[in-house]
Amino acid sequence: MSMFEDIPVGVGIIYEGERIRGKDMQIELGGPREPYKFELVQARNMDEVEDGKISIIGADISELKPGTNHPFGLLIEVAGAGIEKDLEGVIERRIHEYLNFIEGFMHLNQRYDIQLRLSIKSFEKGLNSFNMLGKVLQRLFKSEMPFIEKIQFTFMTDLEKVKEWYQKALEIYESRDSRARGMNDGDVDVFYGCSLCQSFAPTHLCVITPQRYANCGAISWFDGRATAKIDPKGPVFEIPKGELLDEKKGEYEGVNQTIREKSLGEIQRVQLYTAFGYPHTSCGCFEGCAFYIPEVDGFGLVDRNFKGETVNGLNFVTISDLTAGGRQVDGFHGLSIEYMRSSKFLQADGGWSRVVWMPMGVKERIKNFIPEDILEKIPTEKDVSNLEELKSFLQEKNHPIVSRWSETPATEPETPREITAPTLELPLEMPSYQGLPSGIGIKIIMKNARIKAEKMIIKIEKK
Ligand code: SF4
Repeated sequence: MSMFEDIPVGVGIIYEGERIRGKDMQIELGGPREPYKFELVQARNMDEVEDGKISIIGADISELKPGTNHPFGLLIEVAGAGIEKDLEGVIERRIHEYLNFIEGFMHLNQRYDIQLRLSIKSFEKGLNSFNMLGKVLQRLFKSEMPFIEKIQFTFMTDLEKVKEWYQKALEIYESRDSRARGMNDGDVDVFYGCSLCQSFAPTHLCVITPQRYANCGAISWFDGRATAKIDPKGPVFEIPKGELLDEKKGEYEGVNQTIREKSLGEIQRVQLYTAFGYPHTSCGCFEGCAFYIPEVDGFGLVDRNFKGETVNGLNFVTISDLTAGGRQVDGFHGLSIEYMRSSKFLQADGGWSRVVWMPMGVKERIKNFIPEDILEKIPTEKDVSNLEELKSFLQEKNHPIVSRWSETPATEPETPREITAPTLELPLEMPSYQGLPSGIGIKIIMKNARIKAEKMIIKIEKK
């Protein structure tokens, strides 16, 4: 009997990456319209967990009105001789992968930011209870992470219960994140790599150091250490630092070697603390992005929760499309909120002195980590709404970026880098691309490339 014979839909890696559009969805749990949502893993003692127990607090899937979205919480409690607190973050991150294995089920993001959708088709096939999701998760977790000896699940859709646990979860995430604060990259001999997102961004690898949290905001250096120890052949592994090649940019010989191997030669070098040249790659799960604004030679920051347009007129989704996919894109940099709290945050590019705009919500969250003398000089959507207003604001507040305007031309990012494409065959149907953010140009150099195209039109339009 197959492991999932009693589940009415398929379960397997082939379903990963399915997208469920609004018109095809039976229900949505969490998501951008729902303020209360979370997923949380907690390590418990052996006698506190009943293996395989699945509890539902609130309405089950079959009782939720079709086409609607709901508050949602998933609490997973695990126990085992080798289980420690530091494993919670990594076990939690696997929920994303395993739920996406279910046919007609989509899971996006992590922690307090989750969005889950069940398709009408899979619901009609009989996937109508959280009990089935729990069974799938139980089997996958226990087969993939054998150090989990006992596991139990609590699914919540009751608003009051979700609210109560949401607050607890935020405190737990914060205490996890704060552990590595105060530690320096120089204090350790090894970093950790995570290749979990290679299923959809094959050249991406997160390099997790004490001062650079994983892009998704779910895995710290401590989490990496605990996971690599208990599951050394798993997707989270040790990276010996090797020789320090550039202190300011954060380039290490050992990191370069690992990224070369893991990206099959596609990415040759990574500099951890810059968004130019050889920036850390971005998969698509990042909590936020830094994006270069050439008109003022500074960076904007935007997080996934920000729904409006940023100061240059682009929203998070567009910026994220320009950033994601495991590439190194000059001036576009996926990052976690916790990394914004690091003293090495964009250190080679000027750190906070180079940040010229960010959403109010994220500014509030991290204001204690922004240098005091710059905090009020960084505008949000409440202060400015376009680039003209931004320039005036920065001048009025005497933001340190203003002194750069006379020193450097405000149109060129630093160190433009050649991107080489080994072999490239373009499909006949080329997607048409409607333009880059204002002020950004592209240079394409293809070496040893073979290109087949029926038609390709490149137009430069000057305003
Ligand atoms: S974003 Fe990075 S750390 Fe997080 S799951 Fe993906 S590869 Fe791993």
